[in-house]
This record gives sequence, C-alpha cells and structure tokens, in this order.
Amino acid sequence: MLDINQIRNDFPILQQTVNGKPLVYFDNAATTQKPMQVIDRMSRYYKNENSNVHRGVHYLSQVATEAYEASRTYIANYIHASDPSEIVFTRGTTESINLVASVFESFIKEEDEIVITSMEHHSNLVPWQQLCFRTGARLVVVKASVDGELDTREFEKALNDKTRLVAIAHISNVLGTINPVKEITRLAHAAGSVVVIDGAQAIAHLPVNVADIDCEFYAFSGHKTYAPMGIGVLYGKKKWLEKLSPYQYGGEMIESVRFDKTIFNSLPYKFEAGTPNVAGALGLEEAMRYIAGFGVDEIKQYEDKLMDYATGELKKLEGMQIIGTAKQKAAVISFVIEGIHAYDLGTLLDKMGVALRTGNHCAQPLVESYGLTSTVRISLAMYNTLEEIDIFMGALQKAVSMLR
Ligand code: PLP
Repeated sequence: MLDINQIRNDFPILQQTVNGKPLVYFDNAATTQKPMQVIDRMSRYYKNENSNVHRGVHYLSQVATEAYEASRTYIANYIHASDPSEIVFTRGTTESINLVASVFESFIKEEDEIVITSMEHHSNLVPWQQLCFRTGARLVVVKASVDGELDTREFEKALNDKTRLVAIAHISNVLGTINPVKEITRLAHAAGSVVVIDGAQAIAHLPVNVADIDCEFYAFSGHKTYAPMGIGVLYGKKKWLEKLSPYQYGGEMIESVRFDKTIFNSLPYKFEAGTPNVAGALGLEEAMRYIAGFGVDEIKQYEDKLMDYATGELKKLEGMQIIGTAKQKAAVISFVIEGIHAYDLGTLLDKMGVALRTGNHCAQPLVESYGLTSTVRISLAMYNTLEEIDIFMGALQKAVSMLR
C-alpha cells in the first residue's frame, strides 16, 4: 500500500491554494510535478558537481561525467535495455521520435509504407507524415475502434512486405488505452518492419521492459515521469543505432576531426552532439529511483483504483460521454458533456482550483474522428487521492449547473 500522505509531502507544489482553493492537479498527462528528491538532486548537482562532461581532466568534470553516465546505466537497467549505450539522452519524446524519423530517411524508399495508428499524439504522427512527404512513402493509419481499442487482426492486415516502420503509442494521451505493444511488435517483425514506441504516457505508470517488448526504439520524456523538463530518452537497439547516421553534428559526437574527414564517436555519443542536460539526466535517474522505491506495479494498482472511482462518478452525470473506454486503460479520462463546451468547463474548474486540460490534446485527427474539436481530460498520478476526485466532482457539478 502506498502512503499517499507521505508521497504528497514530497511534492511541495501540491500544498498550495489556487484561486483560494486547495490545488487539485489533474493534468499529469501534460506534465507531472516533481518531488523534493528530484529537485534536491538537481540542486546538489549545481551546488557541488556542475561541470561539462567528457571533456575535462579536472575533478569536477570527472564527478559530473561519472554521475551522468551512472544515470544512463540506471535508466538502461530500469527499462531493461541490454547496455547503457542503447540509451540516448534527448530533450524529450518529441526529439527522440524526430531523431529516428530524421536519420531513418536513408532506409525509406518511395514504394515503402510507414504504419501508425489513429490515436497518435502529433509528436508520433507529424514526423512520420513529413518523412513520407520527403521520400514519397505512404503513411498507413490503422484506426482504433470507437472504444479506443486496436484490433490486432486489423493491424496485421495493414502490414505487408512494404512496411518499413511501425510507430505506436504505448498509452494514448487522450483515450488512456494501453496498446498491446508486445503483440504489435511481434506482428511488425513478422512483416520485416522495425517498431518505434512512443512511451511518453507509459513510463511513469506501467512497468516498461524494452527487452520483453522487443521494439527497436522506445521514446519517453522526463517531465512526464516526475523528472525535469528538457530531458528525455531514446532507447534504441544497438544494432540499429550503429547503422544509423548521426542526427546532429558538433562536439561530443566525434572521435576525430580533420578538415577533410570526421570519424564519429561510439554509441551513444554519436547521437549526443553538444553539451548535454546533465542536471536533467541526474533528475531523471532520481525520479526513476523514486518510482522504483514504491514499485511501479503498486503505483499502477493505486492509479487504477483512482481511475475506476473517477469513471464511476463521471458516468453519473447527465449528458456525460467518456471518450475512450478500452478494457486496458491507464488513468487518463477524456469526456464531453452534452451542450457544454470543454473550454468553458476548464475555465470554471480552474476558478475552483482544479487543473485539467481541454482541447484536442495534440491529437487533432483522433479527437475529430469522434466528431469533436475538444474534450475535457483528467489524468491522474500517484499523488492524487479519492478525496480530490470528490472535490473535482463537486466543482464539475457546480460548473455544469452554471453553464446549463
Ligand atoms: N506522445 C504522447 C503520447 C504524449 O502524451 C506527449 C505529450 O503530451 C508527447 C508524445 C510529446 O512529449 P514531449 O512534449 O515531452 O516531447
């Protein structure tokens, strides 16, 4: 059992009032809050260890380099990568996916196909769409059912010997659907395709095991996993990272440079041009240690309890339509209420101290497929409580009666 009071004490930002009301933070799919352990780790780095990495012979540079590389090792172990060199630090999921979409271009020909799903965030859609525009390849979209589920038989039908790459979210940021990524990876491999998984919504809420999934690439952001903004990870199978050309050029990513020739650095540095976000990497390690301290399975169980309770309460409201009712779901609940604009609800709820999200959640094609332009979304995390759901429901009912 998680001690939620103890957890909440680790997050000072949650103790504040907003518009005179205790803050209810239900926008965790956009970004999670950071515990003191993470904030302290970063502050300790800047107070005592700050130096550029991989460059200096001096003491601080060695301390910073060791800490940075230890973070890489911890993260590799956390997601079951086979080697720390399979962990490339990036700015976040978006950069990780863009990295692959950019350097994968040399493997894509005009007659090829790239398969995505209808539930992708723009970050896992636009880079592939643009890659198709550049190469003449075809973007194939596998549609989710109205419930927000992917039928693996439908998925299989979309795959053929032209499929070069399959890109799919582990968890949809709108529907909450947990996709069967292991099964989809197996099907994609049978068709000879590589697999890129957008793990932005999964990493803080599910155990992630890239060895078990067997995907070629897995992307995630620190800031959605209780870690700082501006740090993220691209996991890539060594075999693939070795084959791919660098993404950016400059310092760090080279082994030797002459005016007529450059030899690139070994993995993962080949993909880490320039000074990296060292404090961010240390913060991410600390956040993963924090999650591991409670156990991600325990966290999932608790978040499921919150989701079930919130879903049950929401369903009692007249005119309520929940968007995304897959059997395998994470604690992301999108909804609309008949006759009321999502934005109006969001604005009124903010006045009552509730932070949630309205809009298309960077998944415009998906939201439009429901005939909508926006939904209200609550997304829960391990520090949220049943009491907060009650406060939210009270505020929602009040907002609905004001708007009706
Ligand atoms: N993919 C999904 C499923 C997301 O929810 C998000 C952010 O909301 C992203 C990708 C992009 O993440 P970032 O903005 O951290 O790069």
